[in-house]
Amino acid sequence: MNEKIKAIFFDRDGTLIHEKPGVYLSDPAKVRPYKSVPTALKLLQQAGYHFFIVSNQSGIGRGYFTEKEVNAVHARLQKLLRPAVFEDIVFCPHAPNEACSCRKPQPKLGLQLIKKYHIDPKCSFMIGDKKADVEFGQALGVGTVLVTTANGKNHLKKYPDLRPNKIASNLLNAARFIVKQEK
Ligand SMILES: [Mg+2]
Ligand SMILES: [Zn+2]
Repeated sequence: MNEKIKAIFFDRDGTLIHEKPGVYLSDPAKVRPYKSVPTALKLLQQAGYHFFIVSNQSGIGRGYFTEKEVNAVHARLQKLLRPAVFEDIVFCPHAPNEACSCRKPQPKLGLQLIKKYHIDPKCSFMIGDKKADVEFGQALGVGTVLVTTANGKNHLKKYPDLRPNKIASNLLNAARFIVKQEK
């Protein structure tokens, strides 16, 4: 009963699904997972990981779309990526200037998940395409993988002090790295 689980925290935009620069996704019909995602999730699931998404959705705070629309996007994403299951999808709805306590890289949303689902940070990972994702993972004490999809390449250049445990060209290579740590 007290057994802890190991988890992968995924960023959403630019990590699991295509992100268009400057476009705030609110239409479920426009959700497009990267090609390597189903295989990556299968690999990680076989290795015993539980899946969570932690996302900054400042489009809500900026007034571009509603929480309801974000939930519709997530329902679509869950459906597209079946049989993989995301046990929880959490997001910060605030704009950066709202000075909230839940926007990545702040660890609050991750800490809540760790507590609620009995996650062992030492056996878990965060995968994302931004500096904020790496710092979020580091604050949680999980392993970090920066994928060079979407913003990844730029952020590596822009923030040379960024030190993820691994830099991967896509989610499948991130998954391969994580699974290899087991052996
Ligand atoms: Mg992202
Ligand atoms: Zn927030």
